[in-house]
Amino acid sequence: MIVFDNKRELTTYLDELKRKGLSLGFVPTMGALHDGHSSLILEGLQDNTYVVVSIFVNPTQFNNNEDLEKYPRTLEKDVSLLQTISEDRIIVYSPRASDIYGEKIASEHFDFDGLEHEMEGRFRPGHFDGVGTVVKRLFEIVKPDRAYFGKKDYQQLMILKKLVSKHDLGVKVIGCDIFRADDGLAMSSRNERLSKAQRAAAPFIYKTLNAAKAKFGTNSAKEITDWMQEQFENHELLTLEYFLIADAETLKTIKQKSTNKSYRAFIAVYAGEVRLIDNIALN
Ligand code: AMP
Repeated sequence: MIVFDNKRELTTYLDELKRKGLSLGFVPTMGALHDGHSSLILEGLQDNTYVVVSIFVNPTQFNNNEDLEKYPRTLEKDVSLLQTISEDRIIVYSPRASDIYGEKIASEHFDFDGLEHEMEGRFRPGHFDGVGTVVKRLFEIVKPDRAYFGKKDYQQLMILKKLVSKHDLGVKVIGCDIFRADDGLAMSSRNERLSKAQRAAAPFIYKTLNAAKAKFGTNSAKEITDWMQEQFENHELLTLEYFLIADAETLKTIKQKSTNKSYRAFIAVYAGEVRLIDNIALN
């Protein structure tokens, strides 16, 4: 497995592959890889000759310094996991911040036509400017044919589709299903930071999302939102930050359903200091 830590060597290598007409998939990650990441990589390997996996804990997308400091960094383990997926068709790019940002670690500002002001954008100021900045730079370095992102971060996926269309980046953005543990908890690198008790409690998030989905046919969005808040009101280990039902395209919170539209429920929960997000298609 080839691991590059700088863009100069990476691009020289990738240019040679492209010259041969080989296709390139791309899976950007922040490392601490798990089966959710693997599912994206496997999808990339089905569609492309090679898959580039970047492993980079991007400082500009963190609005909380402690979250950034405590974010797990497990490069050796990550490379071993990737080796079990494919020895010769995965290319790893694990840069230092200076390789992406030069001297000054700062975000560009983006206009994603309002998608950035909803949900995560509201609770994590600057987050999507950081995501947009790093993904745009990574796309410019890797120049993939296709890039794979998880619906676990559904808002991010929609924003990156917008990034590509607004900036004409020529990459096909593909959304992949949420990969879950057997008990329903969406896989996340942050799950590693949960205590035993918090980990045992966390599947409650998906359980209530499913219940919200079951109610969607008969109850209003407001009734479901109120019900959800009640479920978490006196929870010992989980604190609800937000739950809402939104239009799956505009991500705007809805008050009333209309026909011919797709809706999703979105949730953010704290287990102690660990922030977990999840979402589900409602129709
Ligand atoms: P991260 O390393 O958390 O930044 O995630 C890298 C990519 O993996 C993003 O596109 C995420 O949406 C995706 N991802 C993370 N967890 C999951 C999961 N449980 N299922 C599917 N995709 C995921």
